[in-house]
Amino acid sequence: MILDKIDQLLNEVSNLSAQNADEIEQLRLKYLSKKGEITALMADFRNVAADQKKVVGMKINELKQLAQDKLNELKECVGTQKKAEDTPDLTRTPYPIRLGTRHPLTIVRNQIIDIFQRMGFTLAEGPEIDDDLHVFTKLNFAPDHPARDMQDTFFIETNPNEVTKNVILRSHTSNDQSRVMERQQPPIRVICPGRVFRNEAISARAHCFFHQLEGLYIDKNVSFTDLKQVLLTFARELFGPDTDIRLRPSYFPFTEPSAEMDISCHICGGEGCGFCKHTGWVEILGCGMVDPNVLEACGIDSTVYSGYAFGLGIERITNLKYHVADLRMFSENDVRFLQEFQSAN
Ligand SMILES: [Zn+2]
Repeated sequence: MILDKIDQLLNEVSNLSAQNADEIEQLRLKYLSKKGEITALMADFRNVAADQKKVVGMKINELKQLAQDKLNELKECVGTQKKAEDTPDLTRTPYPIRLGTRHPLTIVRNQIIDIFQRMGFTLAEGPEIDDDLHVFTKLNFAPDHPARDMQDTFFIETNPNEVTKNVILRSHTSNDQSRVMERQQPPIRVICPGRVFRNEAISARAHCFFHQLEGLYIDKNVSFTDLKQVLLTFARELFGPDTDIRLRPSYFPFTEPSAEMDISCHICGGEGCGFCKHTGWVEILGCGMVDPNVLEACGIDSTVYSGYAFGLGIERITNLKYHVADLRMFSENDVRFLQEFQSAN
């Protein structure tokens, strides 16, 4: 009698199925809980004749084990189904992800690069640690030029016993010029953004490192007019279509003639204000025609080719655009400052 019951239960249990955890729990209660059917068999077991106890006991154990195994198996199946449900639903509306901000210098550098790339300039990069030849000599710096002085330039000691001035943390991005001309014949049309270093005390208006962007264009029949038009286009793209430029004669070792460029003050529109010191103009870059000495030093025939170069400070332009009062804010990583540029991306 009890054996028939056990056989019936064995049959039932081996065919169990469940869709979810609740159903599995119902099955556990039905068969394995204190009031479950298998537990009830244990109670009946007391009444089994002594000579049958062994056979019946084994059968009950077999049933109990089967029920336990079956429930575990069902749990695993349901678990896998649940995992499948956890895979992301790509049709769901995304929740808002908080965006980071770009550094203001990066924003402005990218804008400048974008403007010149649209005019056909390509990017070139040079080393931050370079030698005297590329940083100064090939760029027509006289051996006694003050820029080579220890006050301005960081020299790297390669041998502590010997003071050499040959390994340099570049003090301008113009070393990229000499390196580009060295490896490439004209036409050359590149911009070189990068970090430069100068031995200056850190203050609101000066820092020991800052960022420049260098431009170089060499081809046949390049004239100062070409330079002026490119810079006018650049200024109007960056500061707005009403911007005017003016060029003032200046001096740089690697350009002849040389000029500094001002733009009309974009705050007062040229009327004169505190920002432009009531002149209506603010200086933004240095430029000029590449000195024939530089072309020759870099292996380019100065009787065939001419070109122009310009260089600007990215901090300077960023200050003009965003009025950052203190240069040190660019390198202090104050999140409150950086988050102000959230919408400028
Ligand atoms: Zn002004």
